[in-house]
Amino acid sequence: MAAEQARSWLAPRPPEKIFGDSYLVGFGGLSVVLIDTGAGLVLVDSALPQAAPAILDNVRSLGFDPEDIKFILSTEPHFDHAGGLAALARDTGATAVASARGADGLRAGAHLEDDPQRAYGGAWPRVTQIRVVENGEVIQLGRTAITAHATPGHTMGSMSWSWQACEGEACKAIVFASSLNPVSADGYRYTAPAGAPILDGFAATYRLMDGLDCDILISAHPDNAGEGRYNDRPGACRTYVQRSRGLLATRLANERNGTAR
Ligand SMILES: [Zn+2]
Repeated sequence: MAAEQARSWLAPRPPEKIFGDSYLVGFGGLSVVLIDTGAGLVLVDSALPQAAPAILDNVRSLGFDPEDIKFILSTEPHFDHAGGLAALARDTGATAVASARGADGLRAGAHLEDDPQRAYGGAWPRVTQIRVVENGEVIQLGRTAITAHATPGHTMGSMSWSWQACEGEACKAIVFASSLNPVSADGYRYTAPAGAPILDGFAATYRLMDGLDCDILISAHPDNAGEGRYNDRPGACRTYVQRSRGLLATRLANERNGTAR
C-alpha cells in the first residue's frame, strides 16, 4: 500500500458527535464509530494497523476511557478497516465481533480464497479473540441494542451494523454500512463461475439494505456515502446501494465486452 494512500485515508479529523451517544472517532477517509451504551463502549471498525493510537486519543478527548471498550465490531476482514483491530483489542481488552466468514479472515490476517482482492496479497495483524455473530443477531450492551446485518459482496464475510441513538424522546436509526465496492485485483472476473456466490451476495445485500431503517448512514469509506462524514438525508442507505449497483453493472459490462482489467 502506498504511503500516500495511507496518509489520505488517515487524514486527522476531530472527534464528532453524530446523534445521542454515538460519535465519529475516525479519519478523513476511514470511518470509526464509538457508541457509549451506558454500560461500556463499543467501537465499529478500526482502520489501518498504525491507526490505533489516534483512535484511542479521539476516544479520550471525548472524555471516555479506552479500557471501557467492550466490543469492536468489524465490517470486513481487510487491512483498511480491520488492520488496527488486533492493537485496539490488545490495548483495551475488548472482544472483536464479526460474521463467521469475517472471523476467518480476521484470524488469517490475509485475504481469504474467495476474496476478489486476494491476488493483492495483503496482510495485517491477526485477531485472536472473536465473538462470531449471525445475520440478524443482536448485541445488547447497556441501553444499546446493535443488530448485525450480513452484507456480503465486497467480501463474503462483510457485516453492517445498526442501532437506535436517542436524545430524550427523539431516536434515530443509525447504520454503519460495510464497503459495497465491487473492486478486485487485476484479472479477477465476477462473471467467472467462482464469482456467482459473490454476485448472489451483492443481490442479497442490496435487498437487505434497501429495506433497512436508516436515518443516518455511516459508510466504511465516508466518501462512498456522499458529502461529509455521514449522510442523514432521506433514503441514504438506498442511495448507497444504488451507487454499488451502478458500479457493479459497469464492471460486469466491462467484463463481458473485454475491457475489464
Ligand atoms: Zn475492503
